[in-house]
Amino acid sequence: MHGKERPNGDKISSIFILIVLEFYMLQKEGSIMTEEILRTGGCLCGKSRYQTRGDSPRAIMCHCRYCQTYTGSAFGTQVWFPEDKVTLTSGELSKYDNNTETGNVVTLNFCKNCGSTIFLRLNVFQGMVAIPGGSFDPPTFWFVPQVENFCRTKAPFIETSTSEKHDTHPMYNPKKPDNHPVK
Ligand SMILES: [Zn+2]
Ligand SMILES: [Zn+2]
Repeated sequence: MHGKERPNGDKISSIFILIVLEFYMLQKEGSIMTEEILRTGGCLCGKSRYQTRGDSPRAIMCHCRYCQTYTGSAFGTQVWFPEDKVTLTSGELSKYDNNTETGNVVTLNFCKNCGSTIFLRLNVFQGMVAIPGGSFDPPTFWFVPQVENFCRTKAPFIETSTSEKHDTHPMYNPKKPDNHPVK
């Protein structure tokens, strides 16, 4: 009886190993899918659309006068991604380079048709692109901003629970007066 059971036992062990392997592969596949979660968004008119892959490493709120004027709102929300995780899937974009008093250049890309900004780039953050938070399709606010910058010009009616708040920016080092047309 012993002799007969042994080959069967080996077979069962092999099947068990295969099941474990398959389970491991499925788990791995699952985790890759979680890392590469796809999100979409776009401009007001719907012509310029983008897709992002994976989660953003950093989301910030910015209360600077530039963000207030380019959005026309109380603050800007920038959700940063590595450049290769963001694809423009439709539409045509124009651009505007904003030369700031720090010597940095913020490049805004906006829909040629409706003018909504959907990408921002900062010359000192090579390889990264920021997406204005409100442009994501629902569920729009899937990200949690970790930092707030330029609180010195924050609208008095904005109250948040963000733990890291800066009067300007930790690396803010103006080389000339703020070039904003209206302070
Ligand atoms: Zn548009
Ligand atoms: Zn700003």
